[in-house]
Amino acid sequence: MKQILQTLFILSIVLILDCRLKKPVYHLTQSEAETRFEIIENIKYELDVHLTPKDSFEGKVKIYFFGKKLRDLRLDYYQGKIKSIVLNEEDLTNLPYENGHIQLPANNLMIGNNTLTVEFETPYAKTGNGLHKFTDPDDKEVYLYSQFEAFHANKMFPCFDQPDLKATFKLNATVPKNWKVISTTLPNGQTKGTNLEEISFSFPESAKISTYVFSLHAGPYQVWEDNFESIPLRLFVRKSLAKYVDPKDWFTFTKEGFAFFNSYFGIPYPFLKYDQIIVPEFNFGAMENVGAVTFSERFVSRAPMTRSQRENLSDVVLHEMAHMWFGNLVTMRWWNGLWLNESFATYMASLAQAKNSEFKETWISFFEKMKQWAYDEDSFVTNHPVEAKVSDTEEAFTQFDGITYGKGASVLKQLVYFIGEEAFQRGVQNYLRKYSYSNSTLTDFLKELEFASGFPMKKWSKDWLETKGTNQVELTTICAENQFYWKIVQSAPGLENKLRDHKTILGLYFFDKSNKQLSFEEVPVVYSGRSTNAIFPVKTCPNYTFINAEDHDFSIWKWTESNKESLEYVLEFDTDPMRKLILWTDYFRQVQLANITFDEFKDTAIRLYSSETDIKIKRWILSRVAGDNGSTYFTSRFWFPEEKRIRDLNSLQTFIWDELLKAKPGSDEQRYLFVSLVDSTYTANAKKRLYDFLENKLSVSGLKIDQDLRWNLIVKLSSLETERTQIQNIIDREKKADPSSRGVNSSLAAEGAEPNRSVKEKWIQILLNPKSSQYSSSTLRVVSYSLFPEHQKDIQLTFLDTYLDALDKFNNGEDENYLDAFAKSLAPDFCTDETLLILKKFTGNHPRLPAPVKKTLLKQIDSEKKCIEMKNKHKDLIAN
Ligand SMILES: [Zn+2]
Repeated sequence: MKQILQTLFILSIVLILDCRLKKPVYHLTQSEAETRFEIIENIKYELDVHLTPKDSFEGKVKIYFFGKKLRDLRLDYYQGKIKSIVLNEEDLTNLPYENGHIQLPANNLMIGNNTLTVEFETPYAKTGNGLHKFTDPDDKEVYLYSQFEAFHANKMFPCFDQPDLKATFKLNATVPKNWKVISTTLPNGQTKGTNLEEISFSFPESAKISTYVFSLHAGPYQVWEDNFESIPLRLFVRKSLAKYVDPKDWFTFTKEGFAFFNSYFGIPYPFLKYDQIIVPEFNFGAMENVGAVTFSERFVSRAPMTRSQRENLSDVVLHEMAHMWFGNLVTMRWWNGLWLNESFATYMASLAQAKNSEFKETWISFFEKMKQWAYDEDSFVTNHPVEAKVSDTEEAFTQFDGITYGKGASVLKQLVYFIGEEAFQRGVQNYLRKYSYSNSTLTDFLKELEFASGFPMKKWSKDWLETKGTNQVELTTICAENQFYWKIVQSAPGLENKLRDHKTILGLYFFDKSNKQLSFEEVPVVYSGRSTNAIFPVKTCPNYTFINAEDHDFSIWKWTESNKESLEYVLEFDTDPMRKLILWTDYFRQVQLANITFDEFKDTAIRLYSSETDIKIKRWILSRVAGDNGSTYFTSRFWFPEEKRIRDLNSLQTFIWDELLKAKPGSDEQRYLFVSLVDSTYTANAKKRLYDFLENKLSVSGLKIDQDLRWNLIVKLSSLETERTQIQNIIDREKKADPSSRGVNSSLAAEGAEPNRSVKEKWIQILLNPKSSQYSSSTLRVVSYSLFPEHQKDIQLTFLDTYLDALDKFNNGEDENYLDAFAKSLAPDFCTDETLLILKKFTGNHPRLPAPVKKTLLKQIDSEKKCIEMKNKHKDLIAN
């Protein structure tokens, strides 16, 4: 590589960097939260806000609470302006206000009833956390929405911001008269303000809920209405996007959810009304605010939605709805119990889809997304038990990961297979009934499940919830004289891992090669400890056997290459998509383990693609041969000679193009193939084809290149073109044709993607100073992810020192989502020993980096190690 000089230079900087000992102090620690819980209870908020399209808003909050102990009491309020504080009629306006909180002195508190009134002014957020303001470039309308999880309610108003200080909320909001206001309850009245251009909405007292699920959204949102039995349903979106929303799907998925959950949980929906609001610049997929769920606009497509997009929407609608019980009605005491929210909502959404929706394939998607996310996250040094330790609210942010969602939900699936669906449901019902409107811990949950099932939950929890790591299993089989012998050897690689009890299914295939057929049988097995074996009679010996046929287990199967020929036969002739996806995934893992080359895998995948009939499998194959996980990764990262890269990508393009012409017009497959065509564009021929599509010189019958897809093409081409005239004309033209916020963001992404160091320099300076930038965090995130595509690693390397300096500079008070996106999107993944060493030294010298940055760096170091190891193994594999 040509970066050695640069590398030495960077090393010298890294070595003289000082250790930074600062830790963001505005975050709330677990012990502070526990102390506060001891001091107060019975909290009621009365919040009055005056919302205008300016840069900040004014408000007054009256907090009634019962004092239990006379101790200094922390009031959380992040970087706003305090105008007055009155506690029990005593003016405390001059109390020190720093680091995002105010300490109310013990001697002003009373045992018994207290009243605190604070008048304040808060700037609107542009980070997506707190009360976020968005101005629609299409029609200049202003929209507001709140996002409070995990510790952002105090970014809107002063409060006691922790999950176990549940409270009731009464709200009054004065807004411009064309606005709607959405909150936890339905407004019981609206009055004209003194200003004729304004209107006030008052909302009655809510149920007792945590601060992080209270919410407030306002603006001239478009609304659709429906109902499920007595529950009023509404759907909101900003006006300029309304024409792309299909409310029918949204309401159908919502009603299916209520029908299922009301009966499954045995407790009717507790919060009276259900609103869903699609909001701009959202940091997450969706958020389960009580009765007012927010969704990212990524669920609005400007083209007809594919079945997989609709399945995903149904899944997210159900996930958030499950939270109304798991999370909102019963809430974890502290963020270490986040899995009690997220693992359950994830599992329940799939269960609801399987039982009461058109998407019966949900468990295949669960395997594809949640399981793989879980295995991946659990394989890094940053893994943690499902029930984790969380020392403060900053660390809480890092828990929203593949363990808390994917592994927790997978472990629940395994538990249900052990104890049975009925016992599980009974346990869940008892648990929800017992802890309604209050908070719970792991112990509370285990007690109810053990009572309902008779299953020893403590040991199970120690193994699966309180210990980290994934088990690996090896299967040995011998079959002779109608006797089938199997042995499973379990191991527990990694620190603090252990052997566990598993219940799973052995899948047995029997081939009839002369008729190109196969049959399949399942054998349930339980295994534990180091080694388990058994023997049973069979009519004939199976030709191929594998573990975890229906994906109830959570373990990695160590495949051996001797099976390869049989495996390929199964992949060709089995028709069950779930089994096939499990086997395809195992097969691809062999590439990652360098047991086979990527070319070997790709040849099989391409050969079997045409005869495959299941669209999920087809899409999976395409994502591996043409997406970021596949050829992009395995051709460029491994620095094969450029001629080979060009040859491979050309032949890949020929394959995709041929299939595209064969695919059914207007089908989802056609769209997936087209996206793969864009993903694998690199060579001159491929680029020309994309230009021809953009200039309407080329089309494929039934394939609609909508505006979002056009932008995909443009960003890709921009990242490849040093000669700018043609692409710049197109960017300018499309910018005019699409003045929407998506158009604006996409044109900025296209600009950032240019392979030009000075363009990167300009954007990095903007990214380093988000607070003074004209852009929202959301726009900056779009740009930062477009800056360094795979083929621009040489430019990215010249910014390595800038990146590390920036991580050192960002400190107290930077938004976690922004920090996380910055750290991840620009993370140095170069797969070389030199850069690995730099990352290690930097991380070693900076023990107190903000939690999201630290986690990203530790994962990156691990990922670089794995990449280097894989690269070296592949070199050997190819050389042999
Ligand atoms: Zn969730």
